[in-house]
Amino acid sequence: MTNDTSHPDLYLLGGVSPALEATLVERFTLYREDPPATTRAIVGGGSSVVDAALLDRLPALEIIAIHGVGYDGIDLAATKARGIAVTTTPDVLTDDVADLAIGLMLAVQRRIVANDRSVRGGGWQVDLARRASGRRIGIFGLGRIGRAIAKRAAPFASELHYTARSAKPDFAGVFHADIASLAAACDVLIIAAPGGDATSHIVDAGVLAALGEDGILVNIARGSLVDEPALVAALMDGTIAGAGLDVFADEPAVPDALKVMDQVVLSPHQGSATVDGRAAMAALVIANLDAHFAGRDLLTPL
Ligand code: NAP
Repeated sequence: MTNDTSHPDLYLLGGVSPALEATLVERFTLYREDPPATTRAIVGGGSSVVDAALLDRLPALEIIAIHGVGYDGIDLAATKARGIAVTTTPDVLTDDVADLAIGLMLAVQRRIVANDRSVRGGGWQVDLARRASGRRIGIFGLGRIGRAIAKRAAPFASELHYTARSAKPDFAGVFHADIASLAAACDVLIIAAPGGDATSHIVDAGVLAALGEDGILVNIARGSLVDEPALVAALMDGTIAGAGLDVFADEPAVPDALKVMDQVVLSPHQGSATVDGRAAMAALVIANLDAHFAGRDLLTPL
């Protein structure tokens, strides 16, 4: 166990890029497992779990720097009670995640991936796709990523609809107080709200039925927002037309039933996975840690 104050102990929870790990090694003593009680910092990903039991084992912990914007795995009541700072990397990944949402929407509607598979297999048969333009597009969660999706979706949309915790008077779209009403009003439902108790399984069988047989679901938020068995059933029986999914309930496990559906596009939680985005996220993680250990204000505190 070390407690070298020039290289504070840091618990690396989950994978980060080799470049970020190399920069962390210059500043910290890194632990990938069994962090010692002298651990002062954790670096984790958007899906990392830091619960009260882990915090109890780390009494010297001062900061959790998340490499991502999701923090539904962090026990915020416990970190607050212990005075532990939590930072994320907002904004720098927004455009990349929004781009992927639009990519998934188009890929599902125009059958891009299914047709690619067909051509690779020697086929040239064209099954008619859905027109992507002129659709009613609904966005669940109109924060940084939701607004960036809306900006990109506007040229494709005959109408824009949204749900958030509160209406946004500055946004030119139709507000729906609940997701069932949102789903009933749109052809494409894009999920861009945080995970956690308040949104768990909020996309359930009823919401999928409201979306309807021409409806497409796109989820770039968290798998926990969707009742995955209900989604599989809705896709199998034609309750909805298709889905583009970057996130899943039990990653990296993906239900086998989804893998054989041509009306589904699957994506390995790659919303922020661009060279540019990941470099900016890594720089923000380091900047937050540097600020904390130099006694300066954090750049992006929660
Ligand atoms: P954000 O700026 O905090 O926006 C969240 C939005 O969701 C806000 O509009 C908020 O409403 C709304 N919201 C929160 N709780 C809600 C609820 N219970 N019901 C309805 N709406 C609710 O977050 P962001 O930066 O846009 O990120 C959104 C999520 O995307 C993250 O939490 C993360 O899970 C996910 N994400 C995924 C990837 C990926 O790789 N696929 C990458 C980054 C992020 P108000 O505005 O009214 O408060």
